[in-house]
Amino acid sequence: MRLLLVEDNLRLCEYVGEALRARGFAVDAVECGSDGEAAIATTAYDAIILDLGLPDMDGLAWLTAMRKSVNQVPVLILTARDGVDDLVTGLNAGADDYLRKPFELEELVARIRAVLRRPGHVLGSQLTHGNVSLNTHTRELTVNARPVELGRRECGALELLLRRADRVVSKSAIEEAIYAFGEELASNAIEVLIHRLRRRMQQADADIQIHTLRGVGYMLAPVSENRDAVGE
Ligand code: CA
Repeated sequence: MRLLLVEDNLRLCEYVGEALRARGFAVDAVECGSDGEAAIATTAYDAIILDLGLPDMDGLAWLTAMRKSVNQVPVLILTARDGVDDLVTGLNAGADDYLRKPFELEELVARIRAVLRRPGHVLGSQLTHGNVSLNTHTRELTVNARPVELGRRECGALELLLRRADRVVSKSAIEEAIYAFGEELASNAIEVLIHRLRRRMQQADADIQIHTLRGVGYMLAPVSENRDAVGE
């Protein structure tokens, strides 16, 4: 399980990071919101531990923006703030749980394990649908248990589709999930990318495919269904 720890108190950050690593978690620690943003843009974390008082931004604002971009990674808030209002706002903004500082390390570990177990999130590093399986840690894709090479962006798009399998994923959600802020993007970039990804899956004999719902988005579904909805 890979965790992102966003905490500007260096001592606390090191202490918590070390303790979590000792318990078998892979932990990336950053000290400000912008580094956190950069981290989640490139890495699929299983959970985020988020301090609310960050030097460059408010943790709540960051969380709200993250949820808008359909990132549903579990988030546990750490806060030194006493008020109930902040916690309610945090939970409304999409946090899964919170801990007030100072806290006991064992309680933090227990709460992280609890959010990782919680239904509603598609958890685990292995996302599987039909004969298609993607390891979100190693970015290895297998179809029919055979490895398939995929580019970073195709991989990101497929991960999003797998996480929301059988639901429609909008073009803009895919854009936001795989392109960093400010990155140049051709108007047909997503169509081209989906076309490539669809072809790779067909070549590999996947039993699910990407359906296009014109003007709405994309959706993974078994090959036999909705053939007439398939477009390029
Ligand atoms: Ca802080």
